[in-house]
Amino acid sequence: MKRLLLTPGPVAVPSEIMVEMARPLIHHRTKEFEAVFAQAREGLKQIFQTENEVFILAASGTGAMEGAVVNTLSAGDKVITVNGGKFGERWGKIARAYGLEVDEIEVTWGEAVSPAVIKEKLESDPSIRAVLMQASETSTGVKHPTDQVAAITSKRDDVLLIVDGITAVGVFPLPFDELGIDVLVGGSQKAFMLPPGLSFATMSEKAWEFNKTSDLPKFYLNFADYQKSALKNTTPWTPAVTLIIGLGKVIGGFMEEGMENIYRKRELMSLATREALRAINIDLFTPDAPSPALTVGVAPEEIGAGKIISELQAKFGMTVAGGQDHAKGKIFRVSHIGDVDRNDMVAFISALESTLGSLGHDFTSGVGVAKVSEMLGTA
Ligand SMILES: *Cc1c(COP(=O)(O)O)cnc(C)c1O
Repeated sequence: MKRLLLTPGPVAVPSEIMVEMARPLIHHRTKEFEAVFAQAREGLKQIFQTENEVFILAASGTGAMEGAVVNTLSAGDKVITVNGGKFGERWGKIARAYGLEVDEIEVTWGEAVSPAVIKEKLESDPSIRAVLMQASETSTGVKHPTDQVAAITSKRDDVLLIVDGITAVGVFPLPFDELGIDVLVGGSQKAFMLPPGLSFATMSEKAWEFNKTSDLPKFYLNFADYQKSALKNTTPWTPAVTLIIGLGKVIGGFMEEGMENIYRKRELMSLATREALRAINIDLFTPDAPSPALTVGVAPEEIGAGKIISELQAKFGMTVAGGQDHAKGKIFRVSHIGDVDRNDMVAFISALESTLGSLGHDFTSGVGVAKVSEMLGTA
């Protein structure tokens, strides 16, 4: 059976990218590798929509999140974290691990944070030094209003906005310089359609000001070292050569297709998937603020998500993700990032209909497939 990886990370990697990474290994201190690195650097700046350097780390996304904290903040600093899911919770864990004082805003899973709550906290407590949030919370499928939060924090010289954009950068526009974000993080196995192992981070001038006095311990993740090395088209430590070669190829493809077209494609795919789920009487977990990176469906209570996920795997070779913590067994998550296209989404909805039908869910067979096919066109 042909397998289809539909989890929102790791995502399916296009075979031409895998082939590119299968070539004989080259050394990293060579002109050949430096040229690849230079292309990746330039491309990342365009995708992050910044004039700043974008650092390439040999670490999963959490490494860049940790780097964002240790390169800007100082022991005892007070920060706001937005906890509306597993990744928002992670910001709190990282911050506490470094002895920061965390004021956590708990957000109901499936809902977006209210910028007014952040504004009020910042106004009532001038000692807060940073706001840490997700642009897209992958565990729930929520898109948080990063632009509105940036409008608040960018007016303050003494407050940073640190954003995890791991399922946002490359999925929807998040113009770093224009919005006034201070640290933005991305990851290879999500929007960048690569295997796990790389993460990215960029810092604003304001963040570099914080860096001057930041006293948290840092060595492997010291962004000042990455900044110096980037100018020489390398990294301070041995770069993940193979993955960066893949990255160069992915970026080449992105530039050819155009970011606007990629954003539009993801948006349309997510919209069509949501409409198809509604058509087959599946509620959306995130009706009000859906991230275009994934769609999250609520499993009918009498069936449960576990059965849906295991049947999709067993009968159709399709891997989708379930929920975590209290959402476990309740939701399923399907990716719109990575190597997924219209045909994959039509096949997924068709398999989902078949699965739901055999499990006794009440809906009109075929309406979901008709909806997703119609909305995604025949191209
Ligand atoms: C995947 C992901 C991460 C990073 O997880 P790693 O396992 O460290 O790569 C962080 N934030 C979000 C929103 C993610 O989707």
